[in-house]
Amino acid sequence: MVNDSHAISLSQPKARRSLQARVAWGDHVVTVGGDAPVRVQSMTNTDTVDAIGTAIQIKELALAGSEMVRLTVNTPEAAQAVPHVREQLDRMGIHVPLIGDFHYNGHRLLTDYPDCAQALSKYRINPGNVGKGDKHDKQFGQMIEAAMRYNKAVRIGVNWGSLDQELLAQLMDTNAQRAQPFDAKQVMYEALITSAIDSAKLAESMGMAPEQILLSCKVSGVQDLIAVYRELAQRCNYPLHLGLTEAGMGTRGTVASATALSILLQEGIGDTIRVSLTPQPGEARTQEVVIASEILQALGLRAFVPSVTACPGCGRTTSTTFQELAKEIDDFLRAQMPVWRSQYPGVENLKVAVMGCIVNGPGESKHADIGISLPGSGEAPAAPVFIDGEKAMTLRGDNIAREFHQIVETYIEKRFG
Ligand code: SF4
Repeated sequence: MVNDSHAISLSQPKARRSLQARVAWGDHVVTVGGDAPVRVQSMTNTDTVDAIGTAIQIKELALAGSEMVRLTVNTPEAAQAVPHVREQLDRMGIHVPLIGDFHYNGHRLLTDYPDCAQALSKYRINPGNVGKGDKHDKQFGQMIEAAMRYNKAVRIGVNWGSLDQELLAQLMDTNAQRAQPFDAKQVMYEALITSAIDSAKLAESMGMAPEQILLSCKVSGVQDLIAVYRELAQRCNYPLHLGLTEAGMGTRGTVASATALSILLQEGIGDTIRVSLTPQPGEARTQEVVIASEILQALGLRAFVPSVTACPGCGRTTSTTFQELAKEIDDFLRAQMPVWRSQYPGVENLKVAVMGCIVNGPGESKHADIGISLPGSGEAPAAPVFIDGEKAMTLRGDNIAREFHQIVETYIEKRFG
């Protein structure tokens, strides 16, 4: 019986109102926070001193969909290479903003290498690594001054692997004096959040515009990340960079990142994301961009590439034809996106279905813009194709894959061209 006492609530990510930062290179501006879409970013793993190799990897990351790319700036040589990396990218027509990742000596590098400070669009500052004692505020201040001088955004990025130990010790002492002390983990969460927010307030007191300050508090445990970011989001309205640090390799890293990020993004927490995946030997660095994009697309927050719905297959499909076709179509659509993005606006919203048999094949294909239901074992060797919910034709013979490929291309040209 139909229960008509109330409508089932629709599910969608909540909105969080944060300030909006501008991360720019020339006329190319990436807004982060506020009403901007959640941004995808990534980080290189080349030696920055190798300007050509680094520029090539950044180009690959940008073409895969990374809207900002971070690179290590750890030595004078790396700082000297940064303007060359920027130059190479500009020459290739890649205007993706670059983020300099600084630890220990950022104050010196940004002061001694003004071309580096200028070529970057954002500086990542780790308050746990800017100097100890009375050097801390002075060196932190030098980096903030450089950001203001060159009109750059900053990310104050706290990481539990390099947490400000003086602050942590101080909070531990205070906790020990409580009648009922908090759990050590709770004190650590507090130290991460306090370090980020106090550093942001310090930057503001030096004249930095609050909307140009992004925050992150990265940890490597899923539940820790959720707890820390929920609290951080409540205590401030700075744009938040979200990521599970040191997520790990392969399936484990992917699942852990997707789990943590999805829960927070659904609550409206996170304005830019990175998936910190350890690449498997031979795996492309761009994989972290693909996963970050897929997380946002799966949540319905953004669309980057046409989606391919494919059934898992079962005892009704004994051949691998539909698996091969699903993969081939998925690879083809993804490979075309760098060109299609400008040629066929809106193509990223396309939905394609490749199904294994008659049980769910026609139904799922009708839900897609274009779908094919391949014959399962024992079915007649015919594959009906559905376009915009209607059966349009039936493919037969050995060339089903090639013909379907062409049908998809023609559909894209007609609808998005
Ligand atoms: S659509 Fe058919 S082949 Fe695919 S999982 Fe369902 S029953 Fe199995």
